[in-house]
Amino acid sequence: LILAVDIGGTKVAAGLVDESGHVLSSCRVPMNVNGTASEAMDCVHQAVERMMAEGRRAVTAIGVSSPGPLNPHDGIVVSPPNLPCWRNFDLRHAIEDRYELPVRLDNDANAAGLAEAVWGAGRDYRYVLYITIGTGIGTALVLDRHIYYGRTGAAAEGGHMTIDCRGDVLCGCGKPGCIEGLAAGPAIAAAARKAAAADPERASTLIALANGKVGNITTELVLEAVHEQDPVATQVMTQTFLRLGVWIGNMIDLVEPDVILFGGGVGAGIAPWLGEICTEACRWTINGRANEIKFLPAMYGADTGLAGSAALWVQDKPQQAMVK
Ligand SMILES: [Zn+2]
Repeated sequence: LILAVDIGGTKVAAGLVDESGHVLSSCRVPMNVNGTASEAMDCVHQAVERMMAEGRRAVTAIGVSSPGPLNPHDGIVVSPPNLPCWRNFDLRHAIEDRYELPVRLDNDANAAGLAEAVWGAGRDYRYVLYITIGTGIGTALVLDRHIYYGRTGAAAEGGHMTIDCRGDVLCGCGKPGCIEGLAAGPAIAAAARKAAAADPERASTLIALANGKVGNITTELVLEAVHEQDPVATQVMTQTFLRLGVWIGNMIDLVEPDVILFGGGVGAGIAPWLGEICTEACRWTINGRANEIKFLPAMYGADTGLAGSAALWVQDKPQQAMVK
């Protein structure tokens, strides 16, 4: 068994995962991100020890996923915006030393994409592009069941590809026009609130779903309102699909994957419209056979972080070729 650890901005999950990617048991504890590095580690240990109590003798290795940026080569968490507790923190050794088991670490999008590629919706394909859309947009490129790392391990930050360099929307990374700033959950909700406030009559269905308050509109409600033919919600999502199509069309020209998988909360929510997104992407690529590329929902839902952490042990010598 692999002991999988999934670290987030609000919680730490740990679980026992078998060699087929099944999460056998799991637990979660709150994460303290505003204290010291070792206070944050206490939360991690609490979750790990709970799982160790269940299956210590069967555990052969530990896999960890955490928000980036981090260096998967040396196991150092560099400067994640939502983990202020850790700056250039040697997370891998902090865990390895305590449990005397080998540890692998990667960022959450890479890990989730790998789990989908080896066990999930991408298991029948060689070249997998994984896209997770939630509060941000993350990507992973998995080629023949191996994460593509790039020169130093910083590759596949597709969410920060700019599709509107003159745009006035600044992404959290500081650049204008990143797809993350334009099409992730917060961007969808903000666009819908603005459009609904400008024309409340046309957005009556959406506003009713938000209990009459434009400020209550969330991405989930926008998607619900599209199902109910609300014209404002539909317009916001059409705009979002156009942006995703431009972006994905570019990526198809660069990597021509066999399959594109959509994970994350918003990724799951837009599953009914993957055909529309594919059609849009085909308009923004020169690849004449882009329509043959499969656009599929990811398989793992809530367990994606744990499956991803465990999947890091499916790769053989994953970080061998990277520059220090
Ligand atoms: Zn960005």
